[in-house]
Amino acid sequence: MIYDYIIIGSGLGGLSAGLNLTLNSKKVLILEKNSLPGGATTTFKKGRFEFDTALYDLYNYGNSEHIGELQNIFNEYDLSIDGEVVPFNALINALDLKKPYEIKGNIEDFFIYLEHLKPGSITNLKKFLKVIKEIHDSILEIEKGVKVKNEYFLKYLDTNAYDALIDIGISKEIIPYLSFLWIQLGSPLNKLSFIDYAEFMYKIIFKKRVVLNIKNMELIFNMVNKYRDKHGKIIFNAEVVNINKNKDYVLVETKDQKEYKCKHLICDLMPRYVYKDLLKATPEINKLENARTIGANSLVVYLGLNKDCKTLGLKHYKYYNFNNLNSIINIKSMNSFYHSTFEAIVPNVVNEDVSPKNTTIMVLKTDYYGDAWAKVNKSNYHKLKEDLANNLIEQFERYFNIELKAYIEEIEIVTPFAFEKLTNNINGSMYGYMRKGYDNSINRLVSYEDEKDPNISFVGGSSLFGNGADNAIKSGYFITNKLLNKDDF
Ligand SMILES: Cc1cc2nc3c(=O)[nH]c(=O)nc-3n(C[C@H](O)[C@H](O)[C@H](O)COP(=O)(O)OP(=O)(O)OC[C@H]3O[C@@H](n4cnc5c(N)ncnc54)[C@H](O)[C@@H]3O)c2cc1C
Repeated sequence: MIYDYIIIGSGLGGLSAGLNLTLNSKKVLILEKNSLPGGATTTFKKGRFEFDTALYDLYNYGNSEHIGELQNIFNEYDLSIDGEVVPFNALINALDLKKPYEIKGNIEDFFIYLEHLKPGSITNLKKFLKVIKEIHDSILEIEKGVKVKNEYFLKYLDTNAYDALIDIGISKEIIPYLSFLWIQLGSPLNKLSFIDYAEFMYKIIFKKRVVLNIKNMELIFNMVNKYRDKHGKIIFNAEVVNINKNKDYVLVETKDQKEYKCKHLICDLMPRYVYKDLLKATPEINKLENARTIGANSLVVYLGLNKDCKTLGLKHYKYYNFNNLNSIINIKSMNSFYHSTFEAIVPNVVNEDVSPKNTTIMVLKTDYYGDAWAKVNKSNYHKLKEDLANNLIEQFERYFNIELKAYIEEIEIVTPFAFEKLTNNINGSMYGYMRKGYDNSINRLVSYEDEKDPNISFVGGSSLFGNGADNAIKSGYFITNKLLNKDDF
């Protein structure tokens, strides 16, 4: 039997692709190497706590007032998200600041705070809102294949975020405060394309973020069940080890020596892994692929605390700590193990039901650029991982003046090695490819037709739109729509 499509990987991108294709009556097979679907988006149990690994806030979904693109996609999939829109709620500290600053409530309050910091800023901050909105509309046009004429889009297409903000008139003192979320995008401002930064800020400001009321695994199984309802097939414990293309079909071989055939293969995987390890044809990696920079990898510490968040003094949904608020300076410190840049998520602040009564879940995450982890081996791994987790917890206690250690009931430390094992992303990268320089999502979009392989497409966090759950889901929808319009079988 020859499937219309085989999808390797059942992460959010793979499942989204599978849903769109089965909705369009295609014969689809998903091959998943793990015994459970979801990839990075999963849930694990430790003691009385159920920890979500990855998806905490979903961008671009919105609510009944603010309809995000993902909401429309989920409507097509006949799925809905059970979640709440969260206001900006974060405490941001940097070692070069005298004291942390807080974002509470909406963006207007934040802009008033920035105006206090630098009187006269508000006019250009409003201009910033206008620019990001117009850039968002232009991106939608590009996705529909319409030629964009918008002046801001054309002006900033090849400009990095720092230079564009200066050009808009945002003062140098304000930029670091406005751009602390660079860490979520994985590139410092002087490398990050302004278009990617603008689109991210548009989603945060105009579409809000949704915090799910369901566990990651429940969302994943809702997607799997809908996919199966439409006759989609999924096989677990089916690790693909080899891909062969010939003129009639693509042959996919799994570790247990089974073979499957399809007309078109979709990979919810990092392309470099596919070319290097599955196609085993390194020279086939196209020029763009070779020039791409693999993004940061991370250490994540999941804590189950035996007091409720109010008692612990945890008031904010997110805490950020930076070595330096300026991303361009900050990133230089992030190739060493013991740096001071990390974020903490406290989901109980938004939804107290995420953990048993009178307890709190907390997730501490720190990122590494460069190859720090390449020097780690079996002899130093366990000690290093514990030291790093300990260091992270102590830094949180010190910088935010909140005690954690005395209340830790459960702890799980996840290293880049574990993420690599879970997803097969090279170096355990959580950020896919850095969206830097010309390798930004617009250039990826416009070069899509020229760069694409006629037999293989890529979805997920390493695909067109970059890392993040929303981008992974959108890529699955977008790429399959492109294929469906074209496919003649
Ligand atoms: C700690 C953490 C927190 C995060 N928080 C957020 C957040 O709050 N908001 C947000 O938007 N995003 C967040 N993200 C990012 C988001 O979760 C990811 O970008 C997204 O889940 C990636 O999905 P994907 O489709 O790329 O697939 P992946 O999750 O990478 O899944 C790939 C799948 O392919 C399978 N696979 C790999 N190789 C093979 C093979 N050879 N054969 C068969 N199957 C294979 C894997 O088993 C896996 O199931 C977070 C990530 C992490 C790690």
